[in-house]
Amino acid sequence: MDFKEKIRSIKDYPKEGITFRDITTLLKDGEAFREAIDAMKDLVKDEAIDKVVGIEARGFILGAPLAYDLGVGFVPIRKPGKLPADTHSAEYELEYGSDTVEMHVDAIEKGEKVLIVDDLLATGGTGSAAVEICKNAGADVIGCLVLIELDGLNGRDKMPVPVYSLMEFP
Ligand code: IMP
Repeated sequence: MDFKEKIRSIKDYPKEGITFRDITTLLKDGEAFREAIDAMKDLVKDEAIDKVVGIEARGFILGAPLAYDLGVGFVPIRKPGKLPADTHSAEYELEYGSDTVEMHVDAIEKGEKVLIVDDLLATGGTGSAAVEICKNAGADVIGCLVLIELDGLNGRDKMPVPVYSLMEFP
């Protein structure tokens, strides 16, 4: 299947000069959604994985079915203040200012092999923060799996772990 055809591109969203890659057009197509999850799983078939860590919010949509299919646990990384128990946090830079992500301190056991999942890798800021938070929890981060990589932004070079992507856009 040509997965790229299923992605809707929206010019000047959320602001002028940005082309937003909208995955909802793929998600609403049952066959495309299932095949995309299967294809993402195939990208990491040689890796041993103990847990899938999904980044809020679209990383949940892709990470949860993948974890279910692999028969491993799913761990959410969330925006500040959303997780009820003790958390680790990591800060990352945005174009203007910074943002923080959180994960429960008891979500991952030391030495567990985790795969981080998100919908899209752009600059790599979010993904790097996710790697940092997992490493602080003692995880062995085996990689970051995304549906889409914006390869013009070189986010892959910023990532301290291997990046697996199903498709690339400029
Ligand atoms: P980064 O931190 O610059 O790599 O940006 C990646 C994060 O921003 C991911 O969590 C994405 O969900 C979100 N993001 C950035 N650009 C897009 C886009 O074009 N479509 C969907 N999500 C995006």
